[in-house]
Amino acid sequence: MSQSDGLCETRAMATVLVVEDEPRIAGVVKDYLVQAGYDVLLAAHGGAALTVMACDAPDLVVLDLGLPDLDGLDVMRKIRETSGVPIVILTARSDETDKVVGLELGADDYVVKPFGPKELIARIRALLRRIDTEANENQAEVKIGQVVIDPKKMTVERSGLEVAFTATEFRIIEVLTSQPGRVFTRGQLLDAVHGVSFESYERAIDAHIKNIRRKLEPEVGSPRYVLTVHGVGYKFADA
Ligand code: CA
Repeated sequence: MSQSDGLCETRAMATVLVVEDEPRIAGVVKDYLVQAGYDVLLAAHGGAALTVMACDAPDLVVLDLGLPDLDGLDVMRKIRETSGVPIVILTARSDETDKVVGLELGADDYVVKPFGPKELIARIRALLRRIDTEANENQAEVKIGQVVIDPKKMTVERSGLEVAFTATEFRIIEVLTSQPGRVFTRGQLLDAVHGVSFESYERAIDAHIKNIRRKLEPEVGSPRYVLTVHGVGYKFADA
């Protein structure tokens, strides 16, 4: 039965899966998310996270990389085999490598431990808002060479075959192809991707670009579509 008493006019809030083995942190994150109006699913280890992914299809995943059973990065790999769900990773301050590898594996954002719950909530909200906005934008299809980007369906095709993009990769390609040939700085791309900027840095964009090229370019070594403009940033080929 759906309720419609006039008090809840907005659509149902998103469901967030929190993968965290430390009960205290999981509890705090859950409380803040619930307070912010989200439904929350908890998984205390990687195996449980994959089960929840298969059964409940959450709208966003908060994934601690330090888990007792599977490595958090392996959990991400597994999730990315089947899903482009937005993922925010939690990393320890000392694990600079994990952060970069996580982004390369397709994480959409990261928060460094110890973190303030409000920062995490802000990131989650920005990420979901961005995806929601994208879904509602009525933009025309873009076709450049063998690549077709459909903002309405959030799909990318290369040579007639659909290529799976994460939400963040799609946002970057969408921005770049909104004005083919125009150079975007890493800072501009970061802005477009995050909505809020706490600790964003340029290597994150480079990691995403690397992934996009791997998926899109006929020859990754000499890009045909996503072009580097040295000392400035990136642009999409204009023909
Ligand atoms: Ca942990």
